[in-house]
Amino acid sequence: MVEIIFMNVIKHTSKYVFAVYCFYILLCGLPSEARDDGRISVLHLTDLHIDLSYAAGSESLCLKPPCCRIASDPSLPIRSPAGFVGEYNCGTRLEVLQSALEAVHARPDVVVWTGDNAPHHEGTTREDVLATFKAVTRELQQRLPGVAVVPSLGNYDFVPVHSDPGPPLNSWLLGPLAELFSDWIGDEGLSTFRFAGYYDVKLAANLRAVALNTQMCHVKNLFQFVDNTLGQEQLAWLEGVLTRSKQNGERVLITGHIPPGMFGGCWGKASHEYEMLIGRFQETVVGQLFGHQHSGSFRLLREDGKYLGKPVSVAHVTPGFSTFKGGNPAFRLYELREAPTWRLAGFKQFFLQLSDYNYEARGMEPTGSLNWVLGYTAPSDLNMTDMSPTAWQQLRDRFDVDEKYKSMFHDLEGSGRPWQGPGPLSDFLCGTSQVSDGNLQECLGTNEEILVRRYTDSKHTYVITSMFPFDSVLDYFCPILQGLHPSDCPPQLYDRSHI
Ligand SMILES: [Zn+2]
Ligand SMILES: [Zn+2]
Repeated sequence: MVEIIFMNVIKHTSKYVFAVYCFYILLCGLPSEARDDGRISVLHLTDLHIDLSYAAGSESLCLKPPCCRIASDPSLPIRSPAGFVGEYNCGTRLEVLQSALEAVHARPDVVVWTGDNAPHHEGTTREDVLATFKAVTRELQQRLPGVAVVPSLGNYDFVPVHSDPGPPLNSWLLGPLAELFSDWIGDEGLSTFRFAGYYDVKLAANLRAVALNTQMCHVKNLFQFVDNTLGQEQLAWLEGVLTRSKQNGERVLITGHIPPGMFGGCWGKASHEYEMLIGRFQETVVGQLFGHQHSGSFRLLREDGKYLGKPVSVAHVTPGFSTFKGGNPAFRLYELREAPTWRLAGFKQFFLQLSDYNYEARGMEPTGSLNWVLGYTAPSDLNMTDMSPTAWQQLRDRFDVDEKYKSMFHDLEGSGRPWQGPGPLSDFLCGTSQVSDGNLQECLGTNEEILVRRYTDSKHTYVITSMFPFDSVLDYFCPILQGLHPSDCPPQLYDRSHI
């Protein structure tokens, strides 16, 4: 039995089989996107969470994750062989990304790729992370040659996960990635990317993209809590980019991993400062694209960061490819129109119903093609007039009085599976409409400490430092973050036996 399954693994992963597979997808994939002059299509890929070691036919219900990998002990019986396309408790197959890229018939003009490439498994190494970046880069270069790509970093792209210590300790990541991305980012972008993981790049006439390093506001990043100088520098840099673009008559598409607001895991104070900045440059910012939540969503940013302030901009949250926590792989195709003044006209959201492939034929090659389903089109399928902040505020207001409409929205954003966080669904109404520190607390009727506990699994240093002196915090974290922050972590604290 075991031998037969592994023979299937070899057969399924042969180039020949995947060539045939992609041929089917090309025949049966997405309808072509009509393109006129003055339009740009933007393919947004996020939260790929790819497991390069995924093996169809291996144990999908292993006792010690990560599952869906060849077991170290080949004599173990396989109770539930991993499916050919994927499993809801495992990392995503690289072939799922390949099929998505094949399914987009009309080549996109731009790919926005907002991080979290490595799987969720504990024990992911720096080498694993870099190997995944290389694999995805290779796919994009080979399948979409010549297409502009705007990559950015997610919290699962750091080792240990969530922890970006800043330069020079993150150079193991930023150095190799700068080499990998050099054709996409350009010399000017590379200098800031090498320094701290953010940059800007020209996309088209009067159109510029910004890629943020949102680890600088991530509530689970210890380093931004200890010292947020880098976060402040990034915001000052963003202000400079927006100022220059405004002077030059450019529009700016802002991209990044974690959306503003504690509901997505971005520290409240930084979210407030970001909201104030976007408000000042609302005419310059043409759109904001983020990921991290794995389900689709949005954030309303308000004038002057006030609770009842007029909505001035919308941060769109694109669903990811992650199957690990029960999601279906999904992506969006955005469209910008009316060059050279530019306007975000809408998007289409596509997903792959994983259960269609695996439950009936575990470990076996599907007989048909992978069918990426059009989940919905915005604004039309949401009965919105357009993509303006006012229209998204009206959508949000309707949730208060129309339970059926709210459920429909959650269903659409869940792409055939239950809506995913990281915030609880009970925070959804406040989380989408308030991103600033105090505003979200006021809306939820709670305080900062409770929010931090809720969004950090109660492990964050904020909670710890509210109870213990700073030296005790270092005692706790230095052994975990071994070697990453030598200036704050004396050598003796690297030794676990110390605590
Ligand atoms: Zn993710
Ligand atoms: Zn993430």
